[in-house]
Amino acid sequence: GAGGGGGKDKKKETQLGLSATKNEDFNKWYQELVVASELISYYDVSGCYILRPWAFAMWEVVHRWFDDNIKALGVQNAYFPLFITEDVLNTEKDHVEGFAPEVAWVTRSGNTPMEKPIAIRPTSETAMYPYFAQWIRSHRDLPLRLNQWTNVVRWEFKYPTPFIRSREFLWQEGHTAFATQEEADAEVLQILDLYAGVYEQLLAVPVTKGRKSKKEQFAGALYTTTVEAYIPETGRGIQGATSHCLGQNFSRMFGIEFETEEKTKQHAWQNSWGLTTRTLGVMVMTHSDDKGLVLPPRVAPKQVVIIPIPKGNSSPEVAQGMFDKAAELRKGLEAVGVRVETDLRTNYTPGWKYNHWEMRGLPLRVELGPRDMEAGVVVVARRDTGAKETVAWADLSTRLPALLDTIQAEMLVRARERYDACLETVTTWEDFMAALERKHMVLAPWADEEEVEEDVKKRSATADSMGAKTLCLPFVQPELPAGAVCFASGKPAKNWALWGRSY
Ligand code: AMP
Repeated sequence: GAGGGGGKDKKKETQLGLSATKNEDFNKWYQELVVASELISYYDVSGCYILRPWAFAMWEVVHRWFDDNIKALGVQNAYFPLFITEDVLNTEKDHVEGFAPEVAWVTRSGNTPMEKPIAIRPTSETAMYPYFAQWIRSHRDLPLRLNQWTNVVRWEFKYPTPFIRSREFLWQEGHTAFATQEEADAEVLQILDLYAGVYEQLLAVPVTKGRKSKKEQFAGALYTTTVEAYIPETGRGIQGATSHCLGQNFSRMFGIEFETEEKTKQHAWQNSWGLTTRTLGVMVMTHSDDKGLVLPPRVAPKQVVIIPIPKGNSSPEVAQGMFDKAAELRKGLEAVGVRVETDLRTNYTPGWKYNHWEMRGLPLRVELGPRDMEAGVVVVARRDTGAKETVAWADLSTRLPALLDTIQAEMLVRARERYDACLETVTTWEDFMAALERKHMVLAPWADEEEVEEDVKKRSATADSMGAKTLCLPFVQPELPAGAVCFASGKPAKNWALWGRSY
């Protein structure tokens, strides 16, 4: 097919390009990218973003996959109100302390001050659990497993970043209650596996599963499990999604009690778990390049764009023949479940169209030129590698689905190679700091004490970089040598912790 012209001219011709590069100015690159690729528009409330159809369609893919999977586990969807009274919000002390600084309040209706201000949910434990207490009476009412797909508001004081940290975001929040700790523990891990599945299977983003330190766990939880991702260019870890065991902390405060078969009263064991639109930001940061998005096929709203490229002097009949063929090829591909776009616009050059669809990250471009019409073939170009191949029309409906599977798998492999290259194992403070300065995550033997984590955060902050914290205590732990000491405190080490600067 026809090429798109040389680098600089291309940008001038199309006005589509990014002025910043991923390696030189990552933050600017990301901010330009999410707008130029039509994922988001900035909004006039700081920290809030419009999710445009291209982004929302990907959220729908995540939503559908996760929703199907939790329903298969027996979870049901419900909806609780956006507003929470102050009394209820204050019920669990640790929880409210954790969230208080970020809660947005409604204090006025029209010009009339509210008698009591009403909170906008930052998360819905306190909205839901008074009603769990009403509904759960007997062991026969358990387990209760609810989920809702909603927005929440956290008036974050940290610098907002589209998808990654916004003040209003979309998520699912699961809230469940069980008769026993064993059942609750098992569910925490089932859900964490689904979260890892969203990242690795759908978004082709590698994650590490583990438990949060006491300092980093969810406010009010017994323990928190997490999937942690990493952005090599910024050297920052990011909490991908979290699955919490709340133990009996909330059931005690909210009076969620049931009668056992033996007629005794017991508090329910509870979990809560959430996955947000942050997922999309991590995916965009992980795979995209200086030409735009690079979307994993499984979440790409459109996977293939067919672009007919008539010659400037082609007759209208010849051009029409090409357009008809493009429509026919599209039908064939859609019949085997491929999501296809055809770009039949006559007011843009092929070069402009190539740039446009590259910016939007479509995994495959199919070019159909005059010579291809004669030979009964198309040229197929991969967005992720740029590799091109010629495919006969008759083979498209088998070759393209196979190619999409290959791309999906290879994107994860490459992302994992980059992830693994950023992971260092150290045992001393000097090596720890050196690894951080190389923008790496660090696995180090640790005393597992909150004071030590606070101390590390302070001591590892430099003139231009924030301090490091634990990302998680990975479930997969190397053996701890006998007598191993904490890299930071010299006290006996209890486990290996994964550390990093983070979002
Ligand atoms: P939490 O209820 O605090 O456990 O939050 C659930 C998940 O939401 C976290 O694991 C993060 O991945 C994600 N998250 C937290 N804050 C934000 C935010 N401001 N914007 C987008 N996602 C967030």
